Amino acid sequence: MLYRKLGSTGEKVSILGLGCMRLPIMKGQYNKVDKDSAVSLIQKAIDSGVNYLDTAYSYHNGQSETVIAEALKGGYREKVFIADKLPSWLIQKRTDMDQYLEKQLERLQTKQIDFYLLHSVKEDYWSNLESLEVLEFLDEAVKDGRIKYTGFSFHGEIELFFDVIDSYKWDMCQVQYNFVDDNYQAGKEGIRYASSQGVGLVIMEPLRGGTLVKKIPPEVQEIWNEADVKRSPVEWALRYLWDQEEVDVVLSGMTTLEDLDENLGIAEQGLTNTLTSTEKEIIKEVRLTYKGRKEIDCTQCGYCMPCPSGINIPANFEQLNHAYMFQDVKNSRMNYYMLLKEGERASNCTECGDCEKLCPQMVTIQKTLKKVSETFEK
Ligand code: SF4
Ligand code: SF4
Repeated sequence: MLYRKLGSTGEKVSILGLGCMRLPIMKGQYNKVDKDSAVSLIQKAIDSGVNYLDTAYSYHNGQSETVIAEALKGGYREKVFIADKLPSWLIQKRTDMDQYLEKQLERLQTKQIDFYLLHSVKEDYWSNLESLEVLEFLDEAVKDGRIKYTGFSFHGEIELFFDVIDSYKWDMCQVQYNFVDDNYQAGKEGIRYASSQGVGLVIMEPLRGGTLVKKIPPEVQEIWNEADVKRSPVEWALRYLWDQEEVDVVLSGMTTLEDLDENLGIAEQGLTNTLTSTEKEIIKEVRLTYKGRKEIDCTQCGYCMPCPSGINIPANFEQLNHAYMFQDVKNSRMNYYMLLKEGERASNCTECGDCEKLCPQMVTIQKTLKKVSETFEK
């Protein structure tokens, strides 16, 4: 296993982290973790050099944390860093933060969480957390030893990312980033900025929830097939990330021992600056091919905003485009409901027509919003 120093913490973390949100389950039920298989998976990962476990209050309805506690008995706890997350969307008052943290320490059966993140920071959660003095809460939790390092996972726009980074002395952050989403949410620009500030970088969704390797459009598969270097799409995706100096840990939500073995094998080659310019060109070609599958010619410029009814027009179109680009309505629907507030969604359009004359791309906004609504809300 290869290791990198996580930002300015100086902690030596494995470049492959185990995301504990897709642990093996029983009878297809997300909140029924197959405890024995999950414990074996976690312990085998640690025996193979993985020292970064990522969990959250909500994963597997709390069982991710309790199963980790089981797996870390018998000397394993000392070998790993645990990253856990405050459920931002459940916080209504300052004391909630302490209560959730206490509960998590109890579930994990540990005295200290190594990396404690604010989960899924985006515009609305962040303003709520800030107003409830979450930064003071983090200071106190570090001071009294309940957590060692602070961080946040991010799902907002780039401008917010800069604001959040500048608002506190974070130790690390966790962002969605992969060879297609290089300019999405924090994106490459955000990653570079965080790294320049000494903030460690943990990458989530390296395979876009599996979409980049399971539902490959034929024109993308053709590019992979024609490349001189033969690699699986998983290998291309992970090598792309580890090639970058800013990246410290790449999380993979592994379910089986086969997933683990495949990732461990690829991680052996995960050195920085090892992809050739030809290999980078291949990845770029694949990225452009995915982007060329966009259904709507929306550039996300935002000139159509603000909408008097509060609709976030570009965000609606972004999710519809993702559904086409990745042949994955299910995942895009999930993001549609997770990332857009109720009032921002397509079905609230009153068809006033104010926006259409402002769009330089001549997008038929009203008609396309109907399509968004039909695709995700029906
Ligand atoms: S047509 Fe719909 S989306 Fe456009 S400004 Fe009016 S309400 Fe908003
Ligand atoms: S103005 Fe047109 S291109 Fe720009 S964000 Fe709105 S719909 Fe997209």
